[in-house]
Amino acid sequence: MLGIAKALLPWFEQHRRVLPFRQDPTPYHIWISEIMLQQTRMTAAVPYYERFVAELPDPAALAACDPDRLRKLWQGLGYYSRAANLQKAAKLLCQQYGGELPADYNALRALPGIGDYTAGAIASIGFGLPAPAVDGNVLRVFARLYNDDADVTRPDTKRLFTARVMEEQPADRPGDFNQALMELGALVCLPNGAPQCDACPLSALCRGRTAGRAEQLPVKPAKKPRPVLPLTAVVVSGPGGVLLQKRPDRGLLAKLWQPLLWEGALSRAQVADRLADLGLPAGRLEPLGGAKHIFTHKVWQMQGWLALTDACALPGRCAWVTAEALETAYSVPSAFAAFRPAMVSAAGTGSVLRHRTHLVLAAAADPDTLQSCLAVRRAVFTRERGIPAGIETDGHDRLGVGYDHFLVRVDGQNVAAMRCHRQGDAVILQRFCVLAMFRGQGIGRAALAALEAHYTGQARRILLDAKCEAQGFYAACGYRPVSGIFEEAGINHVRMEKLL
Ligand code: SF4
Repeated sequence: MLGIAKALLPWFEQHRRVLPFRQDPTPYHIWISEIMLQQTRMTAAVPYYERFVAELPDPAALAACDPDRLRKLWQGLGYYSRAANLQKAAKLLCQQYGGELPADYNALRALPGIGDYTAGAIASIGFGLPAPAVDGNVLRVFARLYNDDADVTRPDTKRLFTARVMEEQPADRPGDFNQALMELGALVCLPNGAPQCDACPLSALCRGRTAGRAEQLPVKPAKKPRPVLPLTAVVVSGPGGVLLQKRPDRGLLAKLWQPLLWEGALSRAQVADRLADLGLPAGRLEPLGGAKHIFTHKVWQMQGWLALTDACALPGRCAWVTAEALETAYSVPSAFAAFRPAMVSAAGTGSVLRHRTHLVLAAAADPDTLQSCLAVRRAVFTRERGIPAGIETDGHDRLGVGYDHFLVRVDGQNVAAMRCHRQGDAVILQRFCVLAMFRGQGIGRAALAALEAHYTGQARRILLDAKCEAQGFYAACGYRPVSGIFEEAGINHVRMEKLL
């Protein structure tokens, strides 16, 4: 025994970080925080922790949480089975322990997702019970303190080190002692050969330091290389937004949502064939670049594609997802983070299309009806986006640019309501609306085809390119000067009347 508590505890009192779960260290709070911190850095985990306990303040709330909502709360933390196990354990707590965590190491250890370390942390920090909480940090500290060459990944080494921890643990402060060891490992006795021995309260006791070997410890076997799995991810952008597919109910990233994902590095032609087989022929197919995600036991090497389709087919376990729903309801694991901007843009397309439906209705009617439809649109903004009636919000407002509404007639027919804004001398048109109006009115197929050929790909391209500003759907639209837009598309006899 080295007698480390005497130096370690005063150091901890002075240097302990202020963390939300330390402010109110109930067993529930310790449990949630420790599960989150198992595979996640402290700075990343804290906001998740705060959101989680605010929404699910006790085991009963956790047990009753909708599983999709739970996955959404966990989105980005990875290792989603942790969230599922939390809920399983919470249900057991409600059934067997009156909705409380049991003040007993073995009973805690028997709960789903709770291993030796977590059971020890909850028992010692949450309940003040003598128990070890030995994680990688503690193994590293003890390998160095004892100048011990034993392989710390071996169970017998862990047992030996755990016994040493318990020798050192003061009976009256087990929780503080365990936290102090974790804190020392996180702040001072750092991994990868970088211990800050000069700042360490245990330096006088440390055998590894005395022997000049601290940086070579702990000893671990070399890692085996992980197998690399080539995959093809396809972000499909369609009239309903972005197409997401729910992963299988069991296994890796179970029940989370993803773009279409196929094994193998598929060629453009193969991707096009597979999409067509699903009833989603792609009008455009653009590479999104590669992305790699490293799991514990394997690596996904993905090649991404963006597919634009006008089809609305819905393959198995799939959903068309709008930007709003993507943000609030669908959990997409961070393995697909590289494709998220494309997904957000693709989902935004759905928003644009949804809103332009209102304009199609408007264009089908006379100017009075158009005006009332525009009022409806304002009301929709109010209801769906929390914007006060009478005030329209979009990228223009944020840019501080004014705008006007126009009714467009082609060959004497009302075909479009367009929103325009002025930028210097130019009048800028939201041409997405124009395309919608033509489609909605069934105006001459040749004219429509000419417009689509000229603008559809480009407009969507602009939409996707504008993803950084795509919070409001208008910001995601493409614009061009009114003058010339119809002429370029071969449509003549256009007359515009300013309405609003
Ligand atoms: Fe770690 Fe150095 Fe402290 Fe030893 S003296 S416990 S090696 S930081």
